Amino acid sequence: ALTAGIVGLPNVGKSTLFNAITQAGAESANYPFCTIDPNVGIVEVPDPRLQKLTELVQPKKTVPTTFEFTDIAGIVKGASKGEGLGNKFLSHIREVDAICQVVRCFADENITHVAGKVDPISDIETINLELILADMESVEKRISRVEKLAKQKDKDAVAEFEVLSMLKGAFEAEKPARSVEFTDEQMKIVKNLHLLTIKPMLYVANVGEEDVADPSSNEYVQKVREYAAKENSEVIVVCAKIEEEIAELDGEEKQMFLQELGIEESGLDQLIRAAYSLLGLATYFTAGVQEVRAWTFRKGMKAPQCAGIIHSDFERGFIRAETVSFDDLVAAGSYNAAKEAGKVRLEGKDYEVQDGDVMHFRFNV
Ligand code: GDP
Repeated sequence: ALTAGIVGLPNVGKSTLFNAITQAGAESANYPFCTIDPNVGIVEVPDPRLQKLTELVQPKKTVPTTFEFTDIAGIVKGASKGEGLGNKFLSHIREVDAICQVVRCFADENITHVAGKVDPISDIETINLELILADMESVEKRISRVEKLAKQKDKDAVAEFEVLSMLKGAFEAEKPARSVEFTDEQMKIVKNLHLLTIKPMLYVANVGEEDVADPSSNEYVQKVREYAAKENSEVIVVCAKIEEEIAELDGEEKQMFLQELGIEESGLDQLIRAAYSLLGLATYFTAGVQEVRAWTFRKGMKAPQCAGIIHSDFERGFIRAETVSFDDLVAAGSYNAAKEAGKVRLEGKDYEVQDGDVMHFRFNV
């Protein structure tokens, strides 16, 4: 499964946020196959459509889809030089698919800031620079390998050398690889380099309790938003401390608490949805009387691959998929009504599954 890693300087609220994640954690009864890595928190992806389908179908049970966060502790200045837990830290980041960087935007004199004062942009730059330096090292190593071949006009080497030069230029300007525009061909070369700064980044501005209802009034949040906008990254505002409390509540209690706070959706739920879409993930549903269930797939996946997410037999023996969009199904009021209205399609193996599709797979065993 794809995972987003949580990083940040010490004392910014990472552990608090990660606690909230594990507290809110998916009912393990539904996921007995999941490994119990203490650094991985599995959460349910909030999706109001699931509730609607449940009302429509009245199944025996409803199962949301899940998403994994990985807690990556231990960034320190000098990580790229292998100081402290540096190397280990970087290798953990290499394994995640997206990065959630927690940034301290709360002022609390009782909690020491590693750099002496609250300064979110300087914090972000400290972390991003370590990642850039690590990537610079990878790129320079690669340059020393291909430079000679490129000079001899070896075609592949010439193409790679050009990509490496672009990256080096960006890194020298302290810009991440994700800010560089590459062609599809160049992107293939970039992927092979396994860079850290090519991974999508989400900034998580951790504010104090007093700012949750109106985060725009927090000047630190403003600054983080400006910074993120320049690299087309998204910002989610949370109060990790409050998220810890929310995570212990469910259903109605949670709604009431959120109302009291003056927010519509918990910061954690926003974070889950943002990380999910940042990774190009989407949801399709199966809706039977036994079970209504949400399944995660990657945008662009075809029907047989999506069937394979449920069971490999479904992919191997795939014949067709009865498909209706969530909106059409809800508008029709029932599966049969949708069928009569001609809204249920029979899709074949080349069908690109869409977010919100409700699917019934037909397959040979
Ligand atoms: P980490 O080192 O990044 O994992 O940070 P922690 O999660 O351990 O948090 C450091 C300290 O900041 C702890 O004492 C937390 O209770 C406190 N803290 C975390 N989030 C908030 C917040 O939103 N507001 C305030 N006032 N304190 C917070």
